[in-house]
Parts: sequence; C-alpha cells; structure tokens
Amino acid sequence: MVLFKEVRKPVIRGAASVAALISPLRPRYTPKTPPCMGCCPCGADIRGWLATIAQAEAYGRTEEQAYELAWRMITERNPLPAVCGRVCPHPCEENCSRKAKEGAVAINALERFIGDFGVERNLKLSMLTEERHAEKIAVVGAGPAGLCCAYQLARRGYPVTIFEAFRAPGGMLRYGIPAYRLPRNVLDAEIARILELGIELKCNVVVGRDAPIEQLRAEYRAIFVGIGAHKGLKLDVPGEDASNVFAGTEFLNRVNSGEKVTLGKKVVVIGGGDTAIDAARVSRRLGAEVTLLYRRTRAEMPAIRPEIDGALEEGVRIEFLAAPVEIIGKDGIAAGMKCIRMELGERDASGRPRPVPKPDSEFELEATAIIVAISQEPEFGGFANLRAGKEWIKIDDWGATSTDGVYTGGDDVGLGLVSTAIAQGRLAAEAIDARLRGKKLHKPDLPPPVKPEKMKLAWYKEAPRHERGRMGIEQRGMDTEIESGLSDAEAHAEAKRCLSCGMCMDCEACWMYCTPGAFVKLPKGEHYKVKLELCDGCKKCAEECPCGCIEMV
Ligand SMILES: Cc1cc2nc3c(=O)[nH]c(=O)nc-3n(C[C@H](O)[C@H](O)[C@H](O)COP(=O)(O)OP(=O)(O)OC[C@H]3O[C@@H](n4cnc5c(N)ncnc54)[C@H](O)[C@@H]3O)c2cc1C
Repeated sequence: MVLFKEVRKPVIRGAASVAALISPLRPRYTPKTPPCMGCCPCGADIRGWLATIAQAEAYGRTEEQAYELAWRMITERNPLPAVCGRVCPHPCEENCSRKAKEGAVAINALERFIGDFGVERNLKLSMLTEERHAEKIAVVGAGPAGLCCAYQLARRGYPVTIFEAFRAPGGMLRYGIPAYRLPRNVLDAEIARILELGIELKCNVVVGRDAPIEQLRAEYRAIFVGIGAHKGLKLDVPGEDASNVFAGTEFLNRVNSGEKVTLGKKVVVIGGGDTAIDAARVSRRLGAEVTLLYRRTRAEMPAIRPEIDGALEEGVRIEFLAAPVEIIGKDGIAAGMKCIRMELGERDASGRPRPVPKPDSEFELEATAIIVAISQEPEFGGFANLRAGKEWIKIDDWGATSTDGVYTGGDDVGLGLVSTAIAQGRLAAEAIDARLRGKKLHKPDLPPPVKPEKMKLAWYKEAPRHERGRMGIEQRGMDTEIESGLSDAEAHAEAKRCLSCGMCMDCEACWMYCTPGAFVKLPKGEHYKVKLELCDGCKKCAEECPCGCIEMV
C-alpha cells in the first residue's frame, strides 16, 4: 500500500557512506514553543491559528473555513477574541521573532479580525461534552475572569449562575475601558455568546450583601470569586475629601454608566497606568484641559504605550517627574494642587527607579476637578476571610483559595490584564471540573522554546507589516472606535508573515539542501520523513531550517 507519494531528488551515490564519517548525529523534527505563545497569558496557539489562515489554500480550505477554524482554535481558551483583539497590550508582538526583521506580525490586529468575523457570522461557542452534570457552580463577578470561568464550566456540562453587582456584565471591560477603545456592541456580542451556553446571569446582586456567602456555599458545589479591584487608592494628602476629587475607577464607571459628570475646564489626573490615561482622555472628550501628573518618566509608565501616544496626540499634557503634595481648596471644593518635582534615585522593590522629591521645587496647578488614578484594590466585603492578613487573596496554581471549594482569579489576586483574568478563570474551571469528576489535574507540557539564534531571518522574504487605520484626532469622540480593522487581503498577507518559529511549514529547505536525498516529502500537513539510512550527518538541514525545528540528535 502506498501511504505517501515520494518526491525524490537525484541521489549522489556513495555520498552517505563517505559522509557517515562526518558525524554520528541524525536530524529529527523537534517542534518548539514559539515566543508568541510562550509569553501569552492565555497560552494561545497563536502560531497554529496564524498558519491556519496563511495556509488555507494549501490545505484545501476556503478563506471562510480557515477563519472559522482559526476562531475555534482561539476560543478554546479565549471566548473574547474581538475584545482582546482591541485591548490586549499583546506581549506576543513584543516577543515576535519577526520584530527583528521589519516589524512583528500584527497578531493583535489579526485576533480582532478573527474575533469580528466570529461576531459578524454569529458563530456559536462549542461544548466539550454532551453530558450534563448536576453540581451547580456559582460565579461571583461577570468580568473577564468570571465570564471565562463560567464559559469553561458550562461547556463541560455544569449549570452555572453568575452573580454580578453592576447593572450589566463585563466588569472593567464595560465600566473601566472607554467605548472609543472597546465598542459596546462588540462586548455585548461576545458576552451574549458565552451566556447562550445556558449560563444564568443575575445582575444587581452584591454577593456578601444581597446574597449571603453561606447561602451560596450551601447551594453550590463550588464558587469562583472574580470580584476584580474597583476601589481607587487614596493619595493620602491634605484636601483629598473635596467633592470634585474623584477616584479614577469611580470617574470612569460613572461616565461609562451614562452619568453626566461635571469636571469644569481644568482637570488634573494623577497616575501613570491605564486608568490614569483613560481618565485623562475621557476628560479631554468632556471638554477639559488635562494635565497628567506622573512621578517617574515615560519609560517607567505602566500604561499601554499606544494609549500614552493617543493621550498626547489628543492634547493631554503630561508632567513627568512630579507628584502631588496637597490639594488646595475652599469650602470642600478643590481649586488646585500643590506639587513637587521629583528625580529618580535607586531602584526600589518593583525594580523601577525610586522617585525622590527635589528640595524647594514645589509648584502649583489650577484645577476644577482632580482625578486620582494611582492604583486600585478589591472591595473584599464578605470575602475578607479569603485574604491572608493584609495581603490580597492567595491562590495555588489552579486558583484554589484556602477555603475548600472556593476558587478565585483575575484582578482580586493582583492587578493584571484582561488576558491574565481569562487564563485564571479557565484554570479555576479546569480545577473545579477535576475536583468534581475526580480527575487528575495536569498542565500541558510545552516543548522547549525556540532559541532566537535558530531562526534564520534572512531566509524569509521582506514583507512589510500592516498597521491598523486610526481616526483623525478631530473626528474622535466618546463612543466612536478610533482604530479600524484589517481588510481580508491585509489579514491574509499578515498571517503569511508568521515565521512559524519552531514548527515545520513545508518550506523545503531541508529537502533542497540534503545531497544524499534523505528527506521524503509527505502529503501536506505531514511534512517530511527522514530516511536515516541515507543521511550522512552533514547537519546542513538543521543549519538551513529557517524556523529552527530540526535538531541533530
Ligand atoms: C480603566 C482601566 C483600563 C484598562 N485597560 C486595559 C487594557 O487596555 N488591556 C488590558 O488587558 N487590561 C486593561 N485593564 C485591566 C483589566 O480590565 C482587568 O485586568 C480585568 O478586567 C480584570 O478582570 P476581572 O474579571 O478580574 O475583574 P473585573 O473586570 O473588575 O470584574 C469584576 C466584576 O465583579 C463584580 N463584583 C465585584 N464585587 C462583587 C460582589 N460582591 N458581588 C457580585 N459582583 C461583584 C464587579 O461589579 C465586576 O463586574 C484596565 C483596567 C482599568 C481599570
């Protein structure tokens, strides 16, 4: 029986026997973990879904089929690709091998493209089993952590109820991140699809106040706590209690809830993270002149880089190396802020240089409103017993807390990203399922990372990166999305830019360079077979493999 069609090159007779003396080592295809996947908090198979799009034709799929397959691959771990394709700061691109050539693959824009395809086609998330289990699970909080935990449990056959304190689900995706970065129709569509798996959502219920935790513990076999961190930290300076001093999260929540917030003409925002930048840009949209005060330099600012650029483009003035000393006011109303210049000193525990006040450098800023966005913490409420003293909630690798049957993840264990919350929600769901079904838990063993020096960048053709379009500053508003997506052609071309780090992509380099003809082509998808008896151990295949997946062993 012929299993594969051999395509052979002419063999140089006798070469193997002579060259066998060169080295006893022989080639082996050894897949590696690509850098994009290695640093994605969700552990997404980015290379896999990019290859699915790039090689659609070679595998006999239509573009639509390839997009749907890519969407299914992504939603295995992340049911919010259209959301993440807009707000994830994409560490995958930071680490992409192509960055050293002519720019990283635009993975985030591609994720949005596939996410939007799923929304437009109304694709349904898939169940993992047809079984239905009796054990009921409660999820507290409908942010990305809670939604993803609920998703992963529902598709494993569990009846899940989510209790959410706010009017609508989404957590910081709805009440923190402004709509010009994340349109609400996109968020609504991705959340609706998760709930369609049969998840019950009870909004306007604060667990610990409206629903006692003991009641939940009695009724549900496991509880996932995903309450996030919504309480803004205070500056701890005189005058902070003035009525026109807001916490960043509170301000954004009020604006995103449709409330009218009056700021006046001059707003001072304090902080350097995403909340500070979003609060500053929203204040600009409300018509204020905005000064943002940050105590270190731009290099240390934790906010997402393009968001800082966006704020500057929109006219936010940033005072770097400056900190508040006192809020100046009268009759409970702030009228300005006394500040001091800072300089950078020794590195502190966070690894960043410590800001040190410069003597005699005080200055004043006028303000009609002040927004304090220096950090936030969870409102533990009824969950205070999950804390270890003053620390936040402590968990094991699977989100289990010190209380039996109670799991957690997302911002309530440490401020993070949407993708971190998604990953932690999934891990807790896997742990709950394993516990209830008596299964052993194990994390998949990833192959070793591909070493940068193994990537032969010169082998790949030049292909410029496709950037997303951005709306002009004068057209920007509160609700209109600033960034546009990639076109079909751009998405396809961008997926083709993936270097397939650590995974064979049928490029034929090994086959071409093998003088004794030891490489035999297999049908698409199965790549090559090595006839070791013909190999002379010359290592050329391993040296020439552009994506670093051949090892000499
Ligand atoms: C302004 C801002 C901008 C951000 N921008 C980005 C970004 O661009 N990219 C990115 O990756 N990350 C960003 N982040 C971080 C990201 O939003 C969070 O890491 C993520 O939302 C955390 O998810 P979570 O589910 O843990 O918590 P949350 O999203 O905060 O959701 C928690 C939910 O629990 C509910 N809840 C709380 N207590 C109770 C209770 N007792 N009973 C019932 N429900 C309760 C809350 O109402 C809320 O809906 C941003 C954060 C902020 C504040």
